[in-house]
Amino acid sequence: MLTFKNINIISVILLTGLLVSELYLNIPLLAYIILGLFWLVMTTIGSFNILWNYHLKAFNSNSDLKEKYVAITFDDGPNSNLTPQILQLLKTYDAKATFFCIGKQIEQFPGMVKTIVKDGHTIGNHTYSHSPQFDFYKKQDIVKEIEKTNELVKSIIGKKMKLFRPPYGVTNPSIAKAIKITKHHVIGWNIRSLDTVIKKDYKILNRITKKVSPGAVILLHDSQEITVKVLEQLLLFLKENGYQSITIDNLFNIEAYA
Ligand SMILES: [Zn+2]
Repeated sequence: MLTFKNINIISVILLTGLLVSELYLNIPLLAYIILGLFWLVMTTIGSFNILWNYHLKAFNSNSDLKEKYVAITFDDGPNSNLTPQILQLLKTYDAKATFFCIGKQIEQFPGMVKTIVKDGHTIGNHTYSHSPQFDFYKKQDIVKEIEKTNELVKSIIGKKMKLFRPPYGVTNPSIAKAIKITKHHVIGWNIRSLDTVIKKDYKILNRITKKVSPGAVILLHDSQEITVKVLEQLLLFLKENGYQSITIDNLFNIEAYA
C-alpha cells in the first residue's frame, strides 16, 4: 500500500542501494535527484488526497455496503442563513446528514448545533479555527484545536464528538500523531463536489450524480449559497434512484460520540 511509512522505507532502501553502488560505480547526481523527487511527489499527492490513506486511515466510503445508502456531509458551518435552509430540505426529503462544524462558527451559532442534533443528524469536529496554516501546526496545537471544539459541542449537547474531518482533507505526520492522542475517527469522502469552486449548480450536481454508488460519502459545504440549490436536486436524484442518505456513523457503523 502507498503509505507515508512504505514510501519512506522504499526511499531509504533505494538510497542505501545508490550509496553502496558508489563503491563500484560512478552514480550520477541525477539518480539522487530523481529519488528525492519521487519521495516529494508521492508525499505531496498523498498529503492532499485523503483517499490514499497516506498518513492515516480515513473512512472515505463503505464499499462493503450493498444497499443503496450514501452519506451526505457538510463542512465549514454552522451558518446562520444556509444551515437552516439545508435542514429544511433534509427534513422534506427525510434524509440524514453529517455536519463537520468549525469551533468559531459554533461559538456564534450554538443553537444551530442543538437543532442539527435534534433533527437526527450527526455533528463532527472540523477544528476550531479552520486556519489556512493548519497543516503547518505542531501536534500539540492540532490537539488543542480539536479538543477546544469538542469541549464547545459538549457544553451544548452534553456529548463529545468522535468524528473528525481535517480541513481541505489534507493530512500530514503531525495530524496523524494528534489523532492518535485524541482518538477520533478521521472521515474523508469519495465524492468531492467542488461546491466552493464551481459556479454552475448543474455542473456540481453532475460531478456528484455520476459517481453515486452504495456506501459513497459526498462532500458539500453549508457555507455556500449554491449548495442549497445543488442539495435540492441531489435529494431528488437520490430519491428517484432509490438511494437514502444516512449519517456517517450509520454508514460505517461507528460511534459518533463518546
Ligand atoms: Zn473545511
